[in-house]
Amino acid sequence: MKSFRKEIWFETDRRRKLINITKQVEDCVLESGVREGLVLVNAMHITSSVFVNDDEPGLHHDFEVWLEKLAPEQPYSQYMHNGIEDNADAHLKRTIMGRETVVAITEGKLDFGPWEQIFYGEFDGIRKKRVLIKIIGE
Ligand code: ZN
Repeated sequence: MKSFRKEIWFETDRRRKLINITKQVEDCVLESGVREGLVLVNAMHITSSVFVNDDEPGLHHDFEVWLEKLAPEQPYSQYMHNGIEDNADAHLKRTIMGRETVVAITEGKLDFGPWEQIFYGEFDGIRKKRVLIKIIGE
């Protein structure tokens, strides 16, 4: 069995941002040489997410509006967690959007359903954060 591990880093220019990382994951699958297996992609921070969805700007706007309704960033004083930090909303958003995704690798390619793409969801950015890509298979 082959095994491959890589970390990819992000530093967003604003607090919240969704980034399509499908190409980076595809590059890792190629580099790994795995033809049949699984790829795990997970955020290594508790205020960011990895998830699969559509790369459509209207939907990304809808995610922002929906997440702000569920866990508004402000006022910061509404959260017990805030004090030293101001990122309670980001922890909650991350939990809703998920920590990781697993995608099948078939014949050396990501075995997606229609329109599926992999995203990094940043909810407390403007600092360096990373995503782990782990591939196993043969
Ligand atoms: Zn925190």
